[in-house]
Amino acid sequence: MSKVHNFSAGPCILPQEVLQKASEAVINFNNLNLSLIEISHRSKDFIAVMEKAQSLVKELLNVPDGYSILFLQGGASLGFLKVPLNYLKVDGKAAYVNTGVWASKALKEAQQLGEVLEIASSKDKNFNYIPKNYQIPGDADYLHITTNNTIFGTQFKNIPISRIPLIADMSSDIFSKKIDVSKFDMIYAGAQKNMGPAGTTLYIVKDSLLGKTGRKIPTMLDLAVHIKGESMFNTPPVFPIYVSMLTLQWLKDNGGVEWIEGINQQKADLMYSEIDNNPLFEGTANKADRSNMNATFVLKNENLKDEFDKMWKAAGISGIVGHRDVGGYRASMYNALPLESVQALVDVMKAFAVKFG
Ligand SMILES: *Cc1c(COP(=O)(O)O)cnc(C)c1O
Repeated sequence: MSKVHNFSAGPCILPQEVLQKASEAVINFNNLNLSLIEISHRSKDFIAVMEKAQSLVKELLNVPDGYSILFLQGGASLGFLKVPLNYLKVDGKAAYVNTGVWASKALKEAQQLGEVLEIASSKDKNFNYIPKNYQIPGDADYLHITTNNTIFGTQFKNIPISRIPLIADMSSDIFSKKIDVSKFDMIYAGAQKNMGPAGTTLYIVKDSLLGKTGRKIPTMLDLAVHIKGESMFNTPPVFPIYVSMLTLQWLKDNGGVEWIEGINQQKADLMYSEIDNNPLFEGTANKADRSNMNATFVLKNENLKDEFDKMWKAAGISGIVGHRDVGGYRASMYNALPLESVQALVDVMKAFAVKFG
């Protein structure tokens, strides 16, 4: 098999050894002569997987006591609705920072349930920066942010200091760097950007903030129900949870979040330095707010598009076509993408500049 450099924005690249182990478990799990996906989720073998996945999340992110770890279904997109259902008081209001497509979708779901204050937005410049210096209303029930804007390639470098509960969609940068979980009241993240395959969504929930809305919450959307059910209120998505567990174990075995943060910084530095120094390209995100996960860039001369596309495809590069809202290119550099893949893309960009610059 020839090597593919997989820059997919999501679902994303996973470590090769994780895919190998996952494929083995589909055939014969734990030497039971049964597949992982054909045994009871209440069997001791699967309960051990769930408990291991939860404890790895706690360990890797240093999650303090008083938080529960859930692996639920519905994607981060259902999280957009679970947030106001579980945290927006019946007569309350919620504050949102609008930094892109996902943030806008989260905001829109909250609007269905109550008053939403869009306290800051970067929509005026097609979301190419992270707003700063905004007031966080002290009387809102919570502040919602999207820590990494997958589509536009921006990332919060500083988490807002908030006196009200802070809720974050971390789908595309969780486990990519150290975070202080104690600053957040709820974190949610779809697995398929940096943790595993699509099909499960991680929730890190501060227990003490639940049950305060005065709202009747449909059972499956009630986080307290899932906490009480130890993330097994109904049949959990066993395969995505298993693969996520393997990926988190891979991260831990290699040195954890601190280790990957250093590598992710190296990859981002290499990528952005080429974008800035190559005469044929320019970045689309504000430099101070650039994402270490998703680097967005365009050709200065669109007429060269076919030539560039031919070159990167020939080099075994996959998945760098930009989102339709931004155009151009997006190199997604999630945890499992090796530095050598970024180097391969940079080499193509350099060769392209030699040929057409
Ligand atoms: C991909 C993504 C989502 C959507 O996730 P789904 O699991 O497909 O619902 C939400 N937020 C961010 C930041 C994302 O990158």
